[in-house]
Amino acid sequence: MPREVRELRASWPSQVSRIPNLIEELEKDFRFGQRILKTERGYFLGGAIKGGTSSAWYPSTREQYKAYGAWFELEGVIEGRDDEGLDRLRTVLAPTGIQLVTKRRANAKDVDPEPYSGFGPLYRITASVLEALPPAHLRRPELAKLQLGGWGPDGAKASAYDDATATVYMYEFAVRGARRTYHGLLLHELGHVHEVALGRAGRLKPLHDAYKVIGEADAFFGVEFLLDTSTRKLHQKFVFTEFLAETYMIYAACGAALRAWVAEQSRAVVGAWRTVYEVFRETFGGVEYE
Ligand SMILES: [Zn+2]
Repeated sequence: MPREVRELRASWPSQVSRIPNLIEELEKDFRFGQRILKTERGYFLGGAIKGGTSSAWYPSTREQYKAYGAWFELEGVIEGRDDEGLDRLRTVLAPTGIQLVTKRRANAKDVDPEPYSGFGPLYRITASVLEALPPAHLRRPELAKLQLGGWGPDGAKASAYDDATATVYMYEFAVRGARRTYHGLLLHELGHVHEVALGRAGRLKPLHDAYKVIGEADAFFGVEFLLDTSTRKLHQKFVFTEFLAETYMIYAACGAALRAWVAEQSRAVVGAWRTVYEVFRETFGGVEYE
C-alpha cells in the first residue's frame, strides 16, 4: 500500500507547531470537514456538520483564514491537472469494467461529460490504492462504478456505497478535504463492496460469531480520519456491516499493526480476531500487508 495509506495506522500527527495561528481546536475543525471562507462580509468558519445534513457558519479572522490555507497546502487534496495520474487510473480500471465518473460541482445534477481534469491528485491516489488490492476485488458484480464528487441523498457529503447500483461514491467532503480522509474513506467504501460480496458467497456466519465476541469485549481497532478514533469504533460496535467495511480498510492499511494489536488482546478476543483475519486473508487471495 502507498505510504499515506500505511500512515493511517498511527495517530494523525499535528501540524500546529508548523503553521502560524493554527491551534489544536482549529486543526481538528479543518480535519473534520470545516473550512474558512473569505466573503464581502468578512471571514467565516464552518461547513457541514457531522454526516453533512446541515451546515453552520461562525465569524472568523484573517489569521485563521491564512492558517486554513497553510493547513490545506499540507494536508488537503489540492485541485490540479495530472494527466499521467488519470491515465494510470484508467489503465487500472480498463480491464475491470468499472466506470469512472465525476461531479466537479458539489450540487451538480448530472455527472461531468468527461472526468474533471482538476481531480488529478485524486486519480493518482485512487490508482495507487487500487493497484495494491487483489485484482479480483476490482472484477466483481458488486463494483461497477466509482463517482468522485457531488452530494449524496439527505445531504450526505462524505462517502457511500450503493449496493443497488454497485457504486462507490466519494462525495464533496472526501474529494475536497484532507488526503488522509480520502484514503481512509476510499478503502472503507471498497470494504462495503467486499462485505456485500462476502454475503453473496455465504461467508458471513463465522464473521458474525466472531463479531459478537469482539463486541462484548469492546475490542475494536480504531483508525482516525473524518471522525475521531472512538467514534469510528462506536460505528463498528453498533453495525455489523460497518465493522466489516472498516476491517477491510484496516486489513489493507494497517497490516502488521493490526496483527501486533490482535496478539495483545485477551484469549477469547485473539481467537475471534484470528477468525476474522483468516477470512480476510483468504478473500484477499492470501495477500497480507506489511
Ligand atoms: Zn460504512
